Amino acid sequence: MGSYGTGLETSVLDRRLEASRRWKRKNKERMAAYHRDWVEKNPERARAIAGRAALKAKERRKAYGKRWRELNRERNSQQKRDYYRANKAAIRQKYRAQYAANRLALLLKWGRGLNDADASALLAEHADGCVFCGSHERLELDHKMPKSRGGPNTRENLQWLCRLCNAAKGDMTTVEFITHIRKILKRAE
Ligand SMILES: [Zn+2]
Repeated sequence: MGSYGTGLETSVLDRRLEASRRWKRKNKERMAAYHRDWVEKNPERARAIAGRAALKAKERRKAYGKRWRELNRERNSQQKRDYYRANKAAIRQKYRAQYAANRLALLLKWGRGLNDADASALLAEHADGCVFCGSHERLELDHKMPKSRGGPNTRENLQWLCRLCNAAKGDMTTVEFITHIRKILKRAE
């Protein structure tokens, strides 16, 4: 019949371990001196043991680092998920705006044949809205001197107008359009 201990063996073992610990505590100096002696007499074996211990410590550090990164990754991605859930609308809006701006920059460069500096200057002006009324709704690139009258596709001849202002300006130059509006206002007085 197998025995898993009666409890007596365990207590004997405990007492022996405790006695050994006590002895080592009381004889710290003797233990250290003995250890130094042994290392001096067995340099090869001491080096081998130290090397194995260093390797084990390195492996422990690696395992610890790996676990830490795993735990952190889980925590980070959870934080990211929570943040995304809480700010879904704002984040989408931001990316949409970024996408629109990138698209606009490409259109200005390729569609209008503008260089980088002119394209980014016009892109910045787009954020200010319609040159005439300040609206930000459906902005269009207008030629101050209309294309139909030979107006060039240059940064100086381009401006952002909302769809309404652009339609009202039609074939007029900016100066002609303002003169036209003045006439209307004068009649309305
Ligand atoms: Zn406008």
